[in-house]
Amino acid sequence: MAANLLEFDLEGLAAFCETLGEKRFRSVQLFRWIHQRGEAEFARMTDLAKSFRDKLAQHATVKVPEVLSQHLSRDGTVKWLFDVGSGNAIETVFIPEEDRGTLCISSQAGCAVGCRFCSTGHQGFSRNLTTAEILGQLWFAEHFMRRHLGRADRVVTNVVMMGMGEPLQNYDLLLPALRVMLSDHAYGLSRRRLTVSTSGVVPMIDRLARDCPVALAVSLHAPEDGLRDRLVPLNRKYPIHELLDACLRYLPGAPRDFITFEYCMLDGVNDHPDQAHRLLRLLRDHGGRGVPAKINLIPFNPFPASGLRRSPAARVQAFAAALNNGGIVTTVRKTRGDDIDAACGQLAGDVQDRTGVRVRMARSRSALQLLDTGRNT
Ligand code: SF4
Repeated sequence: MAANLLEFDLEGLAAFCETLGEKRFRSVQLFRWIHQRGEAEFARMTDLAKSFRDKLAQHATVKVPEVLSQHLSRDGTVKWLFDVGSGNAIETVFIPEEDRGTLCISSQAGCAVGCRFCSTGHQGFSRNLTTAEILGQLWFAEHFMRRHLGRADRVVTNVVMMGMGEPLQNYDLLLPALRVMLSDHAYGLSRRRLTVSTSGVVPMIDRLARDCPVALAVSLHAPEDGLRDRLVPLNRKYPIHELLDACLRYLPGAPRDFITFEYCMLDGVNDHPDQAHRLLRLLRDHGGRGVPAKINLIPFNPFPASGLRRSPAARVQAFAAALNNGGIVTTVRKTRGDDIDAACGQLAGDVQDRTGVRVRMARSRSALQLLDTGRNT
């Protein structure tokens, strides 16, 4: 079977080239063609020796998941739904801002953590994405957006592993993808602009610190264990004090000198002023010196199965003010792409709910065809 070259980091690609009888340094040229130039056709990699190209055509491929649908919001946000087989779909979102372009990438089909406020969590876990499926989202989005916008320079400047799934529960397949994102021969992202978001898989936070320290975001959502046990069930295994200890261990080698804490604002659940003060004390006092932190308050995107409601805007602002006044920089996430769907995971959930019917209806062109035409569906 042909090897999908999106499975490999540079080291892996070099080893693959050796199996074809090619020198390792050839892999750098090939790596650049694939990731920097977005080329999937070996015949078009004109500065590679013809014999090498022929071997690649025989033994390798560059393959991304098929695009089921593409949604373009009035505010420029683009969401893609990719088919990853067996009725599973994953979402990828590109969010343009004045000074950056952020891509939100999925790491699993479904998720086993089962956070109460998360549409993906309600769908259950299907499987881990492969490295090629994780990286393919960036490969496709970067090169599609370049063609769509008529740009030659890099469009995706920031990546957040905040899409569907818990990235640290797919650690071994995530790691090569992160390395490619950081490589100067590929996407050249700085460690500060690559964020892994976790619900708190403590041992893997320690491994990430050793293997590939990038910016870290932690989904906290509650200031005490009782409530967090209910909102983020993983908390029963790794309670808040263990999670914050792991954050303190992470910081010395991290590219940023703070951890970002995500806090989804749920009406009447975790948005009382007392809870803001408990959160403040928790982060300020933990371990004696506190955890250097920024907090990102996220307006909840309601979906019927959750039984939860979004906190009123005034309460979110009051919560943010209490934290800011207490000395922790706190922002409220702007909602983007509201006109093209609601919460993360809902498009994919829609596909699953209709047991394949919508999948067949929505499937139009392959990702590579889309890339070739550069047009919206
Ligand atoms: S919030 Fe993240 S970790 Fe929790 S269920 Fe959703 S995808 Fe999984």
